[in-house]
Amino acid sequence: MSEPEIKTDSRQMLARLREVMAEDSAGQARLDTITRLIAEEMHSQVCSVYLFRDEDTLELCATEGLNPSSVHQTRMKMGEGLVGLVARKGQRVNTPDAPSERGFRYMPETGEEIYSSFLGVPIQRLGEKLGVLVVQTKDAREFADEEVDALEVVAMVLAEMAELGAFIGEGAALSARHTQPVLLRGTTGQEGAAEGHVWLHEPRVVVTNPIAEDPHREFERLREAVEELRVGVDKMLAGARGGGKEQLDVLEAYRMFANSKGWMSRMEQDIGRGLSAEAAVEKEQSTARARMQQVTDAYLRERLHDLDDLSNRLLRILTGQGLETGAEMPADPVLIARNIGPAELLDYGRSLKAIVLEEGSVGSHAAIVARALAIPLVVHASRITTEALNGDHIMVDGDQGVVHLRPDDTVVTAFRDKIAMQAQAQERYASIRDKPAKSRDGIRVGLHMNAGLMADLPSLAGSGAEGVGLFRTELQFLVRNQMPRRSELCALYGRVLDAAQGKRVVFRTLDIGSDKVLPYMKPNDEPNPALGWRAIRVGLDKPGIMRMQLQALLRAANGRPLTVMFPFVAQFEEYRAARAEMDKAIAREKALGHALPESLEIGAMLETPSLAFAPDKFFEEVDFLSIGGNDLKQFFFAADRENERVRKRYDTLNISFLTFLEGIVKRCAASGTALSFCGEDAGRPLEAVCLAAIGLDTLSMRPASIGPVKSLIRRVDLHRVKALIDAAAARGVQSVRPDIVAYIRSLG
Ligand code: PEP
Ligand code: MG
Repeated sequence: MSEPEIKTDSRQMLARLREVMAEDSAGQARLDTITRLIAEEMHSQVCSVYLFRDEDTLELCATEGLNPSSVHQTRMKMGEGLVGLVARKGQRVNTPDAPSERGFRYMPETGEEIYSSFLGVPIQRLGEKLGVLVVQTKDAREFADEEVDALEVVAMVLAEMAELGAFIGEGAALSARHTQPVLLRGTTGQEGAAEGHVWLHEPRVVVTNPIAEDPHREFERLREAVEELRVGVDKMLAGARGGGKEQLDVLEAYRMFANSKGWMSRMEQDIGRGLSAEAAVEKEQSTARARMQQVTDAYLRERLHDLDDLSNRLLRILTGQGLETGAEMPADPVLIARNIGPAELLDYGRSLKAIVLEEGSVGSHAAIVARALAIPLVVHASRITTEALNGDHIMVDGDQGVVHLRPDDTVVTAFRDKIAMQAQAQERYASIRDKPAKSRDGIRVGLHMNAGLMADLPSLAGSGAEGVGLFRTELQFLVRNQMPRRSELCALYGRVLDAAQGKRVVFRTLDIGSDKVLPYMKPNDEPNPALGWRAIRVGLDKPGIMRMQLQALLRAANGRPLTVMFPFVAQFEEYRAARAEMDKAIAREKALGHALPESLEIGAMLETPSLAFAPDKFFEEVDFLSIGGNDLKQFFFAADRENERVRKRYDTLNISFLTFLEGIVKRCAASGTALSFCGEDAGRPLEAVCLAAIGLDTLSMRPASIGPVKSLIRRVDLHRVKALIDAAAARGVQSVRPDIVAYIRSLG
């Protein structure tokens, strides 16, 4: 293999730069020496370093050639003048005749009017803009490509020095970075407010040696590391065969980049110019990140992301820095990550105060886990992974989807007030924990909790829930990389029943498909997955998993009472077929001589409008029904529950919907069928009160909602609420919400 070219000029410049960095000088003096050195090496009369004072303002921090009295005086806005242009675009500007360039603006106090040519390159580190490095000459000459490349390499080294705080002194812009308060807006993933200190899920790799003496050794190191990377990616690909298409796509893209000649040769060229292997990787990564901020095409952005991930892996191989940095997790960690998988999140468990993700989504598995653990979560908080440093003070407002990083005192005070108010409310809820959810007019409502993980079970006692009204069994399947075994499921269900200590637990059989795709199952390319092959439909078509699950449940009960419900039943036959599977499973267990449950209840979830119109016989046969309001509402209004545009368009307190629900209550009453409601609306106090008023006397919700719901139920007169609903229906209004709000206000 031919060795890439070694550039002596830029190597000499970097070698001198390293000497300066090794000297005893610091701060301004060091920065001055550096600009002098660069001007000399670049054969230019001027070399200046502009750094960001704040997000939008650049300040001249050191110069060789311009008027020294303008240092720390001359400032410009992002985009202003040629320097501002370099900063805004994150790209070089190279011109022999600066004054005639569009956007040129000269700063009289610097005395720069006598200089004609201008070369400016961004100083950036991993997409974070730090400043601009400029050289200028009197003669009108365009800098050669090689000179531009050399200056970019120097800028890369400066960026590293800046990051390390190696030369920034008092008053310089960079010392302000990562110390100032930042407010980031994202989207609510899980409500709640929390304060803590930053814990980075993937701490940044620190490059401590940007300049290398021996390029041959660096070429070798890079090649070895890339080889290790390629082998790793191939292994991941082999392991992912049979997995989801998306995952394979990403890995294929990884492989493409890992084998890309262009990528490799750009990094080799930078090593030839004097950078160490890791600095060369990081320079490429910085360029990719800067591009990422510019491109709007979603596909291209994704690919740049892949390249970014790959660069991180390569850096970890080169530096030997794993995820373990030796840093100690703070006592009140707020987890910051670009994205995180559900299993990784479970590893952290309840120790986290809050989670902030740069990407993520409300419906992601990580969000499901965060909700199960009741940890405030904000997703789509852009820039959080570059802004936050380990140990930073952070306040997360999950209700508003807002993150305060390094908050100032006024924010801290206001936020702590909010937390205190929430804590006071929690105290109030705790004081009624053992009291019944009984309305002022004596109507008793059963409050149960929704769960899906073992980690949820401690809330059963803490929240005052009467039982588990919905145990979503799919979470156990979602948080793993492979199908759980029957013995594992059996052990888990057994532990759930143990923890419930005789309280009723309603196990819902696997509800996959739609938004819940198992990582190890081939996804179906369905145009409308929510209306597609999901839940009981999969269970009946591929009964293997359902049989395994039913068997695990029967064995876990081990003679104790067992309650099972089937999700997404749309017609009577489906319930019958599922029940027949249960009968078969019981017969098998009996034949094997295993203990059968002391009592068995088998119900269905009512999540499609069709089931509300099922024959009377269905209502008589089913042991109980539970309304899955999330799905039922989306099908009733034909409004996708995952689509932000339409999700909140239709009010649960819409008279049509309440009338529909009341119809179901009446049918159940006529057949004596037990009925509950377990969608998210059950946990919203106003909605819960209205549901109770139309006769839904059993509600199942997130454990954290039980206190607020109980508290409101105990304050209202449910007959009065019902009368308000009826009156609103008679008036022909769309929603009863304003009337209910007014009524509750009137209670004080
Ligand atoms: C529902 O649809 O209301 C429900 C409880 O089930 P899931 O949210 O798991 O679909
Ligand atoms: Mg559902």
